[in-house]
Amino acid sequence: MRTSEYLITTLKETPADAEVISHQLMLRAGLIRKLASGLYTWLPLGLKVLRKVENVVREEMEAAGALEVSMPVVQPAELWQESGRWEQYGPELLRIQDRHSRDFCLGPTHEEVITDIVRNEIKSYKQLPLNLFQIQTKVRDEIRPRFGIMRSREFLMKDAYSFHADHASLEQTYQVMHRSYSNVFTRLGLEFRPVIADTGSIGGSASHEFHVLANSGEDDIAFSNQSDYAANVEMAEAVAPAGERPAPSADMAEVATPGVKTIEDLAVFLDVDAATTVKTLVVAGEEEGELVALVLRGDHSLNEIKAEKLAGIANPLQMAEEADVRKALGAGFGSLGPVGLSIPVIVDRSAAHLADFVCGANRDEVHLSGVNWERDCPLARVEDLREVVEGDPSPDGQGQLQIKRGIEVGHIFQLGTKYSEAMNASVLDENGKSVTMSMGCYGIGVSRIVASAIEQNHDDKGIIWPAAMAPFELVIVPLNMQKSEAVAECAQSLYQQFRKAGVDVLLDDRNERPGVKFADMELIGIPHRIVVGDRALAEGQLEYKGRRDEEPALLARDDTFDTVMAKLG
Ligand code: ATP
Ligand code: MG
Ligand code: MG
Ligand code: MG
Repeated sequence: MRTSEYLITTLKETPADAEVISHQLMLRAGLIRKLASGLYTWLPLGLKVLRKVENVVREEMEAAGALEVSMPVVQPAELWQESGRWEQYGPELLRIQDRHSRDFCLGPTHEEVITDIVRNEIKSYKQLPLNLFQIQTKVRDEIRPRFGIMRSREFLMKDAYSFHADHASLEQTYQVMHRSYSNVFTRLGLEFRPVIADTGSIGGSASHEFHVLANSGEDDIAFSNQSDYAANVEMAEAVAPAGERPAPSADMAEVATPGVKTIEDLAVFLDVDAATTVKTLVVAGEEEGELVALVLRGDHSLNEIKAEKLAGIANPLQMAEEADVRKALGAGFGSLGPVGLSIPVIVDRSAAHLADFVCGANRDEVHLSGVNWERDCPLARVEDLREVVEGDPSPDGQGQLQIKRGIEVGHIFQLGTKYSEAMNASVLDENGKSVTMSMGCYGIGVSRIVASAIEQNHDDKGIIWPAAMAPFELVIVPLNMQKSEAVAECAQSLYQQFRKAGVDVLLDDRNERPGVKFADMELIGIPHRIVVGDRALAEGQLEYKGRRDEEPALLARDDTFDTVMAKLG
């Protein structure tokens, strides 16, 4: 490709509303442009990167034995009513009506649609296991779209769904998918971690998230400094500011908590030392300084205190197993009202001793249990959470926990029979008996990967693409090509040579100053650069620079092709 025939639309200035580096650089390098909040156009250069990521994902899915399908973005409400999620999903589900006033949604995920297909097509255990995937636009009406395409309202996801005659088969495919996810992120050159994830409202028995480590990540990962143990410390997500929260719903239980209004009050009430054992996770409320929620350290002694003392408050959920709490809360719980005080129900997560943040909310000395933290409570402060778990012993008994930020780029799930049961997806087994299929689901945020790669790989000049997703592998920059025939001739012939060898090469044949060309190509992040200039060429030399190299190196003109080919790998 020649730049003169391509679309290079770099920006000098950092756009004011871009908070994180990947968003800034994607705009500056001319990869994306914003249409509206959470909606982005991919320009040719950006789309080229996205397609490279997509192809790696597709190859690994096919290697794992999954078959590609393509399902509609628009989905009928009936299927979502059948699974129960039409009511449960909340405002992230973008609902629309057609001209006949029939309800539809724009798919945030495709469990319902795929289950509908499979229950119609698959009749016998002999046709199983079956693993189907698609790479397709997803729509989620995110409460706070941000960081560009990292959390957008339309994004590209690879979603796969597997179907099984029994649980053992599901576990087998789950392992295969776990491995192929690791392959994907390894091939893409990302520093990542698979982490144990919350099975949350979906239920099911196992789940892992794949996180790219980066300071701008929205998730906290607790991992051992001595073993492979890693788990997601689910963070409270963005919620509406206090004023916008709806009133508490009638179905919350109310329990009196006399006189407890501050963290000190609570410490007195619990008879614990506020300074050392009770940590404020969130302090926010109607008035400044009011306590909204707090987290207790999950060490043994405190658990006892908690068991005894919290029993009176957080009725009836506080000491239940996480699964029981989930069951009791259900998915569609009421929201937190104007907040006076909130006390979390502490549920030990095997992970980091941290509560699952299923919490209660108090108002005027009244405790409301059954509030869904993630949806209803204000943003937790990461610093505080760090205090809570960093240095704690790792649950696997090896080493201590450390906390790092991660960007969730993949998520795999053993769903079990949640959807197949609700939607009657069954097959006949060897004995001709009808059995409900077991399901797994597996998502990769294809577009989010692009941003997370930039978070991990950039410098003050711009993006530094990992080889597998660079829009171009190599750029040839001729200097003064318009005036020097020798330069033009050399650049053109090298360009053709690399093209013939199958290299994704860009020839920067623009009539621009060298400084402009260098800056653009560094901003765009092309991993390898060859400069063809009159002076060096007169000595039979060309200049080579890898994107991470401090200084360029001179190569003999005649060796350049072979040397650079070797670097391209
Ligand atoms: P998050 O916790 O970031 O909101 P999620 O858990 O809601 O993500 P999943 O339902 O697990 O997302 O979807 C699978 C993958 O899709 C995620 O791992 C993530 O990489 C990607 N993804 C989810 N939401 C978005 C979004 N709004 N923009 C871009 N990618 C997204
Ligand atoms: Mg989400
Ligand atoms: Mg998540
Ligand atoms: Mg997820």
